[in-house]
Amino acid sequence: MTEPHPSQDLRGLPSVDEVLRAQAGQAAVQRHGRSAVVAVVRDALAAARERREATSVDRLAAEALERLERLSRPSLRPVFNLTGTVLHTNLGRAVIAEEAIEAAVAAMRSAIALEFDLENGRRGERDDHLRGLLCELTGAEDATIVNNNAAAVLLVLNTLAKGKDAIVSRGELIEIGGAFRLPEIMSRAGAKLVEVGTTNRTHARDYHAALGPKTGLILKVHTSNYRVSGFTAEVTARELATIAAQADVPLAHDLGSGTLVDLARFGLAHEPTVAEAVKDGAGLVTFSGDKLLGGPQAGFIVGRKDLIARINRNPMKRALRVDKMRIAAIEATLKLYRDPDRLVQKLPTLRMLARPKAEIAASASRLAPLIATQLGAAFKVEVCDCVSEIGSGALPLETLSSAGIAIRPSATRGAGRALTALTAALRALPVPVIGRIADQALVLDLRCLEDETGFLSNLATLAPPA
Ligand SMILES: *Cc1c(COP(=O)(O)O)cnc(C)c1O
Repeated sequence: MTEPHPSQDLRGLPSVDEVLRAQAGQAAVQRHGRSAVVAVVRDALAAARERREATSVDRLAAEALERLERLSRPSLRPVFNLTGTVLHTNLGRAVIAEEAIEAAVAAMRSAIALEFDLENGRRGERDDHLRGLLCELTGAEDATIVNNNAAAVLLVLNTLAKGKDAIVSRGELIEIGGAFRLPEIMSRAGAKLVEVGTTNRTHARDYHAALGPKTGLILKVHTSNYRVSGFTAEVTARELATIAAQADVPLAHDLGSGTLVDLARFGLAHEPTVAEAVKDGAGLVTFSGDKLLGGPQAGFIVGRKDLIARINRNPMKRALRVDKMRIAAIEATLKLYRDPDRLVQKLPTLRMLARPKAEIAASASRLAPLIATQLGAAFKVEVCDCVSEIGSGALPLETLSSAGIAIRPSATRGAGRALTALTAALRALPVPVIGRIADQALVLDLRCLEDETGFLSNLATLAPPA
């Protein structure tokens, strides 16, 4: 810090022009443009004048460059997700497949036939790019796509149950993180929620008793993020489909994650697939694009042609539509499902979920000594067993046995503070590293770490924790 010089003549401060001519000043102009540099240098000079501080041309130029570098860094930054939660909503859920990235980039780079039928030169429909694939992969008659699954549920309710009753089991009145609460979505959709059964047990007769002339639909919701266990009873989707058909009302089934393949094939627990839900007789099935499916954010509605046609006539559909980049990425992602044998290799979500523990443990053994060297004597670094989660409310009780690195402060005194400082220092890296605190250790679950080299060169820039 420069001492204030109350007596110093302010003519001692350099001019903006002098700063722009300095080497760092020129570098700043090269990178950020003259007007941006002039603005930050003026600010810095004003601050120096206010504090009656002396400063130099080089210092001002270097500070301007540093400030502009900071300002130009994207707000949305890549991180290493070592939390152990593969589909972490706060970290962007599914990592997109290379094929999908390429397709999205191509869609951005030039004009594309988004709503244009190249065969007859007439207006086309954006859903046309995905309808066939979705029907092929789910066995449904028809399909449409909206912004996310919350939008899909809203649109289904608004289309089929506006001003009418929507019947739901009390055991399925879910809240999903981020203010998606079924009763509230119902009321915004203009549907009247009719709860049936109890929290733990709902029977066919409960649905029968609630059905009436004002019924718009029966809704079945996959309780994705919790399980009711013990003395329970629920009416299966297949039974509900029969009940709905007898009453001549549609059954909508919100699957949440909605996988397109049997996950048991990849060593994971079986999760009802979209094709199964369609086959069980739901008129409409809704599911997410960026959960187990492993694509970009999207909401899919598949099912009966007449119901999808009603949905497409709802003006709300227009407000919830997806853009060309996502349509391109979704198309490429869905096409990967045509080759289930190579799906694990190509789809990052599935690759990480199916990654064998031995492979993760080998990575941990390679990295532990290098991390220990980097952190120095203040921390103990050990390979550890840990459990990963799928995340995003998919299979909440299902954990995946995994391996990672446990980092503990060497000294017991001030251990909490040392750990907090370490997590902060890791977040301050060029590519922030996000782990989780468990048992007074920072645990880095390596399930989602595929780029060890990149991880190490990033870690090499670690500032010693304060
Ligand atoms: C996740 C989920 C939603 C919301 O899906 P988004 O794609 O996050 O909007 C709705 N219903 C269920 C059952 C879910 O699991």
